[in-house]
Amino acid sequence: MMPSNPDLHCHSTVSDGLLAPAAVVSRAHANGVDLLALTDHDEIGGLDEAMAAAATLGLRFVTGVEISVSWGDDQTVHIVGLNFDPRDETLRAGLARVRSGRDARAVLMAQELAKVGIDGAYEGALKYVGNPALISRSHFARYIVERGFAPDVKTVFEHWLAKDKPGYVSHAWAELAEAVGWIRGAGGIAVIAHPGRYRLAAGERRELYRAFRDCGGQGIEVVSGSASDAEMREFAAIAREFGFLASRASDFHGPGESYADLGRLPPLPEGLTPVWTAWEE
Ligand code: AMP
Ligand code: MN
Ligand code: MN
Ligand code: MN
Repeated sequence: MMPSNPDLHCHSTVSDGLLAPAAVVSRAHANGVDLLALTDHDEIGGLDEAMAAAATLGLRFVTGVEISVSWGDDQTVHIVGLNFDPRDETLRAGLARVRSGRDARAVLMAQELAKVGIDGAYEGALKYVGNPALISRSHFARYIVERGFAPDVKTVFEHWLAKDKPGYVSHAWAELAEAVGWIRGAGGIAVIAHPGRYRLAAGERRELYRAFRDCGGQGIEVVSGSASDAEMREFAAIAREFGFLASRASDFHGPGESYADLGRLPPLPEGLTPVWTAWEE
């Protein structure tokens, strides 16, 4: 049966979310979500717990992950993988490699932040980390808020952690074709996450869509928590033009720290092929 309230992008404490995998699933269920994917950054360690919780609640669940990809001139792009075999060894090894650079990057970030007067950031960020392999900018942001340098996480990114800000450290993540290849090799569908969040010129954006499609990418998040109505219309047009499957995605990280709560999203625009139609019997 086609879901009426699918949400195919969210995070748990296994990456930079605030709730444990089972708590994410309960909240999704309470919000009326009827098809869920947990998509932690570069990590699938929360899927067993989430899947078990979903089975208990009778909530339909598909596997997910959000892979960090380096693209073009020091841009980071996120590729969501959906409904793959989590036992696939190539995918698992690829994700382990992507995760492995995070700790050294965090040490460098702390050094940069110390230069602008924010001391103790590595140890401070670690206090917020649920999975030591997955220290992320979000954990640094929570520590910087705790220290009183900014009122909220969003402000921290604007001043210190976004690209070209003092605490930003560039990093080599996966290549686009690798990430798509791992997902497809494990039987999944690759989806461009939150296309409105990348600082790309219009031409570069189209180049990303083409490169993604050329290496086997099939989907795009048309409706996502952080997108405006105008952006959703734009991405609907892109999905039609490039023949992409359309996804619906809150990118929920935790209460009070996200653009959208689980399942609290507009419906997909008309005239698109939803990504979940690929999973109907
Ligand atoms: P990382 O993978 O360590 O580079 O961290 C990326 C994460 O930081 C994203 O997945 C978001 O959760 C968070 N993030 C990035 N930019 C922003 C922003 N402008 N405001 C709030 N959170 C952000
Ligand atoms: Mn995140
Ligand atoms: Mn993302
Ligand atoms: Mn995300």
